[in-house]
Amino acid sequence: MEMDSSGNSDDNQFFMESFTREDKKKRYEVLKSIGVKEFIEDGSIWVDMKTCKGIGCQLCINACPTYALYWRAFPGEIAIIKEICIFCTACVWNCIVDDCIQVSRKRSNGEIERFRNPREVLKLLHSIDSNKLVERTKTRVPKVQLF
Ligand code: SF4
Ligand code: SF4
Repeated sequence: MEMDSSGNSDDNQFFMESFTREDKKKRYEVLKSIGVKEFIEDGSIWVDMKTCKGIGCQLCINACPTYALYWRAFPGEIAIIKEICIFCTACVWNCIVDDCIQVSRKRSNGEIERFRNPREVLKLLHSIDSNKLVERTKTRVPKVQLF
């Protein structure tokens, strides 16, 4: 299954999709074959071709760790192979245009995260780092009340 990018920017189009059981199996097998063992299972990705800088940019393609993005010569746009997108947000982090690539993903605890620009990715990275720091400190100094 391949998901095209679209030129229609509309919030209603940016929804969380669910993979069918068969999709999930195929996805697991394909990702395993390229060495990816852990990944976020559910999510969606969408590229706004109206604001994308096109073939002269391709920063998202170069940043994608699973080669899920590529430049499709006809009609001339970024294309996405959805099965191998792991919703890592590296493309959003590298995109030079806000809201051009939009990634939404569902954590194993059911929490939905959405990313439309590098600032939103950075915010998540900071929060992960802070949480790790708190956990590390708690482990090393278990009796101290941190907050
Ligand atoms: S979210 Fe990650 S895996 Fe998916 S297209 Fe972007 S860079 Fe590639
Ligand atoms: S990084 Fe953004 S602007 Fe550049 S090609 Fe990819 S989607 Fe388009």
